[in-house]
Amino acid sequence: MSAPSVRVLSVIPPMTQLNTPYPSTAYLTGFLRSRGVAAEQEDLALALVLRLLSPLGLDEISKAVEALPARQRSAAVQSFLAQRERYRATIAPTIAFLQGQDPTLAHRINGRHFLPEGPRFAALDVYVDDGSGDPLGWAFGALGQVDRAKHLATLYLNDLADVLRDAVDPRFEFVRYAESLAASQPTFEPLAQALAAPATLVDETLAALTLQAIERHAPTVVLLSVPFPGSVYAAFRIAQTIKLHHPQIVTVLGGGFVNTELRELAEPRVFDYFDYVTLDGGERPLLALLEHLQGQRSRQRLVRTYVRDDGTVRYVNWQEPDIAFAEVGTPTWDGLPLDKYLSLLDMLNPMHRLWSDGRWNKLTVAHGCYWKKCSFCDVSLDYISRYEGASAAVLVDRIEAIVKETGQTGFHFVDEAAPPKALKALAQELMARNSSISWWGNIRFEKSFTPEVCQLLADSGCIAVTGGLEVASDRVLQLMKKGVSVDQVARVTKAFSDAGILVHAYLMYGFPTQTVQDTVDALEYVRQLFENGCIQSGFFHRFVCTVHSPVGQHPEDYGVTLQPLPPARFARNDVGFHDPTGVDHDALGGALKKAIYNYMHGIGLEEDVRSWFPFKVPKTTVQRQRIARALQLRG
Ligand code: SF4
Repeated sequence: MSAPSVRVLSVIPPMTQLNTPYPSTAYLTGFLRSRGVAAEQEDLALALVLRLLSPLGLDEISKAVEALPARQRSAAVQSFLAQRERYRATIAPTIAFLQGQDPTLAHRINGRHFLPEGPRFAALDVYVDDGSGDPLGWAFGALGQVDRAKHLATLYLNDLADVLRDAVDPRFEFVRYAESLAASQPTFEPLAQALAAPATLVDETLAALTLQAIERHAPTVVLLSVPFPGSVYAAFRIAQTIKLHHPQIVTVLGGGFVNTELRELAEPRVFDYFDYVTLDGGERPLLALLEHLQGQRSRQRLVRTYVRDDGTVRYVNWQEPDIAFAEVGTPTWDGLPLDKYLSLLDMLNPMHRLWSDGRWNKLTVAHGCYWKKCSFCDVSLDYISRYEGASAAVLVDRIEAIVKETGQTGFHFVDEAAPPKALKALAQELMARNSSISWWGNIRFEKSFTPEVCQLLADSGCIAVTGGLEVASDRVLQLMKKGVSVDQVARVTKAFSDAGILVHAYLMYGFPTQTVQDTVDALEYVRQLFENGCIQSGFFHRFVCTVHSPVGQHPEDYGVTLQPLPPARFARNDVGFHDPTGVDHDALGGALKKAIYNYMHGIGLEEDVRSWFPFKVPKTTVQRQRIARALQLRG
């Protein structure tokens, strides 16, 4: 399609991750260019943080801090005030260091006399001194100078984020911004009020950056892709600025938040900011919309698009097939400042490090999930249920094109669950082409990952996998239709670990019918998985019931009743439920998180799991050698 009169700008709104671009604009820009559309992209999340955390940005923050009455100054704010000259002098070199532009600064940062230190540095006091007088000696040893300095510099930035939150905008965080205004909010009112409120320094900075981006690219259409609730408010602020200064520009809202939470959108005020809101895979709706804007298609033939007609929201969905995954083109990062992303080192855990440190090219092996059965998952939605793959040759062509464009060989496959067959074929193709990439991604721990397959994946560059073990209990796993057993997970994770691949397990608590005994037993399994070298990392998430999941759609099958939801004109996703077991999962959750944090550092693996709970819980019913025995039956 040739579309000379349309110029599209895709924007990543704040906040998303800072170490690497969120992939949505790269996909859309690559796709649009493959169809001959003039398309550019901007990461305003990164730009906002870099502007606020600059010498001039700190001057602005100082003014806000001075305006605060003394009694309202938090510990972070007071510490900033006392050391603000040091902050101003160190911010630019520290940002350059975290961007990888000045690694030798590590020596000065590690001396602990260079960076001003605020309350976040108190975290270092919890580490046990190994006798060297160095609280980080256990983590970085004598040689990990750069990593140690990255960790200290991350604490320094976290202190500044706390100052921003306490003195400038209470909704500010590095990974999300004003999340509660959008997440599962049945009414638009809180967001509308926030958007009508006087602009904070963060809002003003974002508005200035928006106008600069518009000036640079002179787009006719701006796409705002919002992956999470924590980027919705900023997306609306960006659209508000555009409508105020450039009302002729067409604004479009889409992305993961819209696909999950705005499926019943009926709020006309959303269209004061956005002309169109599109649902699910963005390619087809976007092509239809661009044709419409060029006068080649009527409004009635838009695809999966909300519009406002005479003050009423209308959903238009002309039935047309989606663009096949094999034909969506290769994502492009062209236009994004790849040398400006920040390698942060927040938690001292190797898997968290992959998430926050380093620039990974993001790609999917397939669209959707090939399993699509887990009862807590949004299996009724397109992003899970429409499973489509591409051949290994197409994928490796994409990988080669991306390496050529970015010069970087690290890949994060951001699949919901990458299919084993496709991964195997991909590994063979990578090896046949002598590729030397590193990659990691999310999988299901299923038995087709034999030791031989795991070794093949490692040989092709796989360095880590993440996967759901959820509640480590065969009864609950069966109820949640996870399709794996604890013994199977033990064998598969051990095979990955033996091949030198780092394994992170997603764990869950609070699933319907889960008893205290189930929770204690699940923790015992997890303890044994660490003890036997099956997993090196894990995280416990609290189960959340969503309206799109089998539990939300058929609660009676899971022994729970849903709390009635208020009528929603705006967002709808999470739903409260009543579980007759009456377990206080919040109280248990604290103990689980503490235990796993320690297990990741090799601490407390000998202890009876009951010792992590601050109250009496039953003894585990799992035999102490259960996982070791399951591993002996391997093969
Ligand atoms: S939880 Fe993961 S494996 Fe299960 S259906 Fe969802 S995406 Fe697929």
